[in-house]
This record gives sequence, structure tokens and C-alpha cells, in this order.
Amino acid sequence: MSGLLRLSGFVNAHSHAFQRALRGKVEGGDFWAWRESMLDAARGLTPGQVREGYVETYREMRAAGYTAVGEFHYVGFAEAEAAVVAAREAGVELVLLLAAYGRGGLDRFRQASVVDYLRQVEALRARGVRVGVAPHSVRACPRTWLEEIGAYAEREGLVLHVHADEQPREIEECLAEHGLRPLALLAETGCLGPRTTVVHATHADRRELDLLAEHGAGVCLCPTTEANLGDGFPPLEGLLERRVPLCIGSDSNVRIDPLEELRELEGTARRLTLRRNVIPADELLAIGSGAGTRALGLDGWPDVEVDLGHRSLVGVEPDDVPAALVHGCGADVFSSP
Ligand SMILES: [Zn+2]
Repeated sequence: MSGLLRLSGFVNAHSHAFQRALRGKVEGGDFWAWRESMLDAARGLTPGQVREGYVETYREMRAAGYTAVGEFHYVGFAEAEAAVVAAREAGVELVLLLAAYGRGGLDRFRQASVVDYLRQVEALRARGVRVGVAPHSVRACPRTWLEEIGAYAEREGLVLHVHADEQPREIEECLAEHGLRPLALLAETGCLGPRTTVVHATHADRRELDLLAEHGAGVCLCPTTEANLGDGFPPLEGLLERRVPLCIGSDSNVRIDPLEELRELEGTARRLTLRRNVIPADELLAIGSGAGTRALGLDGWPDVEVDLGHRSLVGVEPDDVPAALVHGCGADVFSSP
């Protein structure tokens, strides 16, 4: 075979571009030790460094077949604008998921109040930036912030992204503070709806999975990061049974390869169910593309081209290309933009 095959571009619904710089440096310790290294990397960032570093990372994404990205941004307001410029320069569609950070983390992550946070969102929107609201987590946002942000997203028709149920400790702390697990708290505060994307949901229990389905919320899985950080296995059977919409993200950007995310997702599903073809290849490709744009509230995004003459596709029949992509190819199979 030779020539090019056009496919919908891949959509990276959850990225923290600055974390690309941590690859190879932080392989000791647990999630919380990794988080300390991440905070060190975030501490000194300037808008100039964000622009320079993010252009490189977004170019890598573009070359790997991601044509749109949701940047879950919590390293400062001037830096948010730098991220927008970087994406434009690299030729990827960006939705800036501006994080609300009420407590914990670093000074630079936090807004003084939820009113200040919403003011920042409005300022970006006034400049024509595509935004979504993003209460960072139930760790970082008090209940009143969640209520205000949930109501604002509903009123303005904006997507809402939030990290939840990534690590057991977060759930224990949420239970101690609120007497509720994270997704129950999000439901109570108006943060769970059809425009909500919960990032990870790794340790969601049955009731929380029901809540996702009842509210029509989706989940963004970040398989290579969740593996790298030792988060655990996502509750894939429960998510699939309830038809919770799924999308993917490269999250910490330890790997930038949508095919690897999808392969890891299906591999996990197979290991958990002892079956094969749990999510057929065409559905996996849709999870990697259109599902992400729905999660980001994006209408249009560029296609990608598969190099059918690539050595990893030699001898593959045309009808088998989609399955060969997800099970047998790396992102270098996409022709460079
Ligand atoms: Zn994240």
C-alpha cells in the first residue's frame, strides 16, 4: 500500500504541557513525591518559558496526530495567555481549561476568591479565547467555589473539567471534610452535568459511576499517565456498562502518542474482562477524536493523514488499517503536518 489515508485528528482532552519537562527525571517515589517535583517545575515558570516550552510540546502533539488540545492550566493568568499563543504557533486548536484553585498548591496557582477566578475566565473570553471552566479538584476547591463555578458553567453553556478520584487519599480527605465522595460532592454542587468531563475517575465506586451516568457526564482517561503515576486501573467495565462517554488525554505528557493511549485503554479493558475486542477499533478511534471535541465543546478540528507506505503498515489490507493503527502502530505513522 502507499498513499495517504485521511482520518479525523486526535483530540487530547487533558494536558498539562509544562509537565513534559519532567520526563525521565521523576521516576522514583509515589504519586505524592512526583507531585512535589511537579510543584518545583511549576514554581519558577515565566510566561516566556511557557510560550517557548509549550510550542515544542504542542508541535510534538501535532506531529503525533493530535490536532486539538484541552490545556488544563493552573500556572497563572499571564501564562494562560502565553499557552494560547504557543498553541497558535504550533498549529493546534486549543481550549484553555482555566483551573480554579482555592487552596493548597503554590501561591501562583491560586485566585484570591471565586469572583476573581470568574473574572479571569471572563477576561479570556473577552479576548476571544476558547475556554472551559476547571475547578482543579475537590482538594483545591472549597464547596462554595464548586457551587459558583457549576452555576456559572450552566448559565454560560461552558464545558466544565475537573480532576476526581485519581488517588485514594483524595477520597479519604473528601469524606472527612464533606461526608461525601468526590463525585457525590460534584453532583451536589451542580458540577456534574452533560458538559462535565471528570478527569481520571480511577477509584470511582459503583454509586459514583451511577452518578456519572445519571448526570450525563463524561470521563477523560489518561492511560499512559495513570500507569506512570501508579494511579490504578480505571473502572472500565462499570464505565462501559453505563455508556459513560470516554475521551483521552496525555495529561503529564510523559508520552505523546494517541495510539498508545488507546491501546493501553483497550489492553486494560482486556485484562480486566478476560475478553478481547472489548472496545472495537473504530470506537477506540472515535474515543480518541470526536469524543474529545465534544468534551472540549469544539466544533471543528483538523484531520490527520496516515502514511499508508509506512513500514508498520506493510502487508496490511486496507480494511484492517484502523485496527492495525490502534494495535500495531506508533504515532510516527502519521505524516507530518
Ligand atoms: Zn491532570
